[in-house]
Amino acid sequence: MKYQELVNVYEALGATTKRLEKTEILSDFLKTVGAEDLEKITLMIRGTVFPSWSEEEQGIGDKFVMKAVADVVGVSVAVVEDAIRDEGDIGAAAEKLYAKKTQMTFFSQPLTVDFVFKQLRKLATISGSRSTSKKISNILELLSSASASEAKYICRTILEELRIGVGEGIIRDAISQAFDVDKALAERAHMLTNDLGLVARVAKEEGEDGLKGLNLVPGRPVKPMLAQLSDGIEISINEMGCALCETKYDGIRMQVHKKDDDITIFTRRLENITLAVPEVVDLIRNAFPDEDFIAEGEIIATRDGKPLSFQNILRRVRRKYNIEEAMEKVPLMVYLYDLLYFKEPTLDKPIIERRRILEEIVTEEENKIELSDIVNVKPENVEDAIDLFNKSIDGGHEGIMIKNCAEPYIPGIRGKKMLKLKAEPETLDAVVIGGVKGIGKRGDFIGSYLIALRDENDDLQTIAHVGTGLSDDDLAKLTEKMEELKISQKGTRITVHPKIIFEIAYSEIVKSPEYGAGYSLRFPVVKRIRDDKGVEDIDTIERLESMFKE
Ligand code: AMP
Repeated sequence: MKYQELVNVYEALGATTKRLEKTEILSDFLKTVGAEDLEKITLMIRGTVFPSWSEEEQGIGDKFVMKAVADVVGVSVAVVEDAIRDEGDIGAAAEKLYAKKTQMTFFSQPLTVDFVFKQLRKLATISGSRSTSKKISNILELLSSASASEAKYICRTILEELRIGVGEGIIRDAISQAFDVDKALAERAHMLTNDLGLVARVAKEEGEDGLKGLNLVPGRPVKPMLAQLSDGIEISINEMGCALCETKYDGIRMQVHKKDDDITIFTRRLENITLAVPEVVDLIRNAFPDEDFIAEGEIIATRDGKPLSFQNILRRVRRKYNIEEAMEKVPLMVYLYDLLYFKEPTLDKPIIERRRILEEIVTEEENKIELSDIVNVKPENVEDAIDLFNKSIDGGHEGIMIKNCAEPYIPGIRGKKMLKLKAEPETLDAVVIGGVKGIGKRGDFIGSYLIALRDENDDLQTIAHVGTGLSDDDLAKLTEKMEELKISQKGTRITVHPKIIFEIAYSEIVKSPEYGAGYSLRFPVVKRIRDDKGVEDIDTIERLESMFKE
C-alpha cells in the first residue's frame, strides 16, 4: 500500500473530533488493508512503529528532524523554526515548507507503508559511532521522497506525536467493527498482549476464536490494573461483601517477569528498570521458585525500617551509573501483592486465590522482600480494616487498598474492583503543556506551568496554571527539561510536548470559561513531579466533573 493512502486516512481522522466518526473512518479503512500491511498500519495509526510492550522507541529529538526538513527543503533551520512558530508543530511546518518548494531535489518514487515502517524501525536501532549522521541520512531518505502531507506525518511519527486524536480505545473499536469481533474480546486481547497490531491481524485472520487464544507472555509487560477512590471503608466493604484490605505502600509499582533465567522489572509505565535495581532482582530470584511467572508489588526505599520519601525511590530507579553507591545510600525493599502468571496465566483467578498462591510459593525475607500486610474483611469485622488503615499511617505508609475478594486481575482498567483510601485529600495528575517565563530576576526560569487533563476523545484540555510548590532546584531542572521539550514560543509563553506530569493538590474545583476543560482549580499546588507516570496516566475531565459534582 502507498503511504499516501494512510496519510489520507490520517487527515480524515484529524478532521473530525467525533469519536464515532473516527471509528467509522478507521474501520472502513482497516477492511481495505491487506494482511501483509495490517499489523504495521495498526501500529502506525497509533503514531508508532513498535507495540506498546516493546522497549524500543524512536528517541529522536526535534532538532534532528528540523535539520532534516531544512536540508530537504533547502532552507535554514531558523526558517523551519519560524514555520513551527506559525503552524504549531514541526509536522504542519514541514507540510507548509514542502508546498512552497518549487523543485524536487532528489529523484523520487512513491513511498510505501512497508518502506516507511522499515525505515522508522531502523532509525530506532541505529547506535554506535556515526549514529547521528546515519540517523539524519535515514530521515533524509524518507523525507526526500515524501509529498508535503507525507512529510507532515513522517515528522510526527518520528517524534511519536501524530495529533489525529485517535487513542487505543478508538483503534480497538475500529478493529472489532471492521472484522466483526466482539468489542470486549478485542479489548481483552489487547490488554493481555499490549500489541494492537497483533490483535488486528488475529481478528482479521482467525476471528473471535483466535482472539480468545491470545494470552499473557512472561517477558512482555501488561498494563497494570488501576484503583479507584473508595468512598469510605464501611461503604466499600459493605458493597463488596468480602474484601482483601492491604497496606498501600508509597513507592514504585513493579511488574516483575521471569522467563527462563531472565528476570525483568518494569514500572507501571512499562519501562524496564532492571539494571537500576540489581538487589531487587536478587531478592526476587531468591524468593520465588524457579518457574516462569509475572508478579506485582511495590518497591519502596527504607532507612532504619522507616519508609523514605517517594522522590528517593524515583532517583534510585532513574539512576544509570554508580548503582552500587546508590544501593548503599538508598536501600530498597519489596512488598509483593499480586500474581498474574505462575507456570500459566493466573490473572483470571479471584484475588483471594492469586494471593493464596503467592503466599504458597514466596519465601519472604524480613525487611527485604515481604508480602503486603493484609486482612480479610467482611461487613462484620470492618474494624480490622480501620485498624490496618491506622497502622499503615502510623508506619509512614499512604493508606489502604480495598480489593474485592472475588475479582480477577483486569489489565489497564480503573474500576471499582480495587479501591484506594488515603489519609490525604485527593490529588489530580495533570500534564504540563506549556509555561510562562518569569521576568526580571526570574527571567531565566519558567515559573508558571500550564497543565491539562484528558477529554473523552483523548485530547488534552487545559485546567490551570501552577507554580506553587516547586523548589528553586525543581524550577531549574524543569526549565531545562521544558527547553528540551519546546515546540514553540510566543513572547514569554512556550508550548511543550506533553511529557511532564504533576500531581496537583488544590482547594476547590470551579467552573471557568478561561480554560479548555471548562473548569479550573483554586490554589493549585504541585505536590510531586511524577516521573513514574506518563501522559497516558493523567486524570480525565470526566473524573474532574464527577469530583466537582460531589
Ligand atoms: P494510585 O497511584 O494513587 O492510583 O494508587 C494505586 C497504586 O498504589 C498502585 O499503582 C500501586 O503502585 C500502589 N500500591 C501500594 N500498595 C499497594 C497494594 N498493597 N496493592 C495494590 N497497589 C498498591
